[in-house]
Amino acid sequence: MLKLDFHPAGRHFLQIPGPSPVPDRILRAMSYPTIDHRGPEFGALGLKVLEGIKTIFKTTQPVVIYPASGTGAWEAALCNTLSPGDAVLMYETGHFATLWKKMAENLWLKPEFLGLPGIEGWRRGVQAEMIEARLKGDTAHAIKAVCVVHNETSTGVTSDIAAVRRAIDAARHPALLIVDTISGLASADYRHDEWGVDVTVSGSQKGLMLPPGISFNAVSKKALEASRTAKLPRAFWGWSEIIEMNKQGYWPYTPNTNLLYGLSESLDMILEEGLENVFARHQRLAAACRVAVTAWGLEIQCADPAVYSPVLTGVIMPEGVDADAVRKLIYEHFDMSLGTGLGKVKGRMFRIGHLGECNDLTLMATLSGCEMGLQLAGVKLAGSGVAAAMDYLVKHVAKPKLKVAA
Ligand SMILES: *Cc1c(COP(=O)(O)O)cnc(C)c1O
Repeated sequence: MLKLDFHPAGRHFLQIPGPSPVPDRILRAMSYPTIDHRGPEFGALGLKVLEGIKTIFKTTQPVVIYPASGTGAWEAALCNTLSPGDAVLMYETGHFATLWKKMAENLWLKPEFLGLPGIEGWRRGVQAEMIEARLKGDTAHAIKAVCVVHNETSTGVTSDIAAVRRAIDAARHPALLIVDTISGLASADYRHDEWGVDVTVSGSQKGLMLPPGISFNAVSKKALEASRTAKLPRAFWGWSEIIEMNKQGYWPYTPNTNLLYGLSESLDMILEEGLENVFARHQRLAAACRVAVTAWGLEIQCADPAVYSPVLTGVIMPEGVDADAVRKLIYEHFDMSLGTGLGKVKGRMFRIGHLGECNDLTLMATLSGCEMGLQLAGVKLAGSGVAAAMDYLVKHVAKPKLKVAA
């Protein structure tokens, strides 16, 4: 039998932008025995997580929880609201936007892919004025939905969703706004109600610090209305029966009980820290990470500072250096996983995840592993990113996390 040793001394550093490290608190909460999903105790758990998750989406409207990966919730958003042959306007920010477009084609929708040419679109956020211009040209209102990715995990770019809403409104167009914030939720500021989003799609294994396995649709009144006449076939994904049973804290089928224990703990952790404090922590760590990359003399995948992602940073390798070879060295020598380049940027860049359960020393250890790996790979560095990031963190010191009595 092949011997796989996943447990060398010390902790593995899982610094990919999802799945993110699962805190011990959450792992322990998930180890409670599975209970009767029709019993009274379960109903209380169901109501707690269904109510609590609304705070994270910043919505008062229903949030549907599926026992599925994020891809399932992508499908749910489309098949609940649209009909075969419907035109949908999608925007190419990177690999995940591209996968979502392929899914739309597989569902017999007619996606139109807007974006900047070549690799440029993979270095910037959604250009809302392009959406506005396209919608203004659609005087017959053939386009039924605008689909955008909030935090593009393949590039490290966080688009301005409020600007997309303004673009749709400026064009006076009735299209639904459907947003993927699978990797943004609970790490980057997100406002389902305020930004007028109709369906927000998210997942468990990124900012929420849970293992993979549950995903979400936050649903507006307008989206619910659309679901009543939409013709795409749906059974498992159908909102109406789930939302009805959720009123009592139950599901029409067996929900993912232990992941819901985990979600309950995750909500406690996030709300104890305070959602805005969680966002500020991510912004600060991401800024320190970028300081390191710049000190190394390397380029950041996101070319527009206004839309740098607080979740992850894409690091472009110098010409002739294979990013995956660097990742392999780092994995083998330092037991750390970094995100690979996806699609158009495969081999050109790697991604450093700094989301969820991440603090100053997690980031510093991560950057140390990167710097040592880059040295081992023979990449010429302009200077020490580790020293620069430490300097940044000290100059922008956060509030003490713990207090010792005098
Ligand atoms: C992770 C991710 C997905 C896919 O989610 P799965 O859970 O892997 O199905 C989709 N979109 C974005 C932006 C992601 O980060």
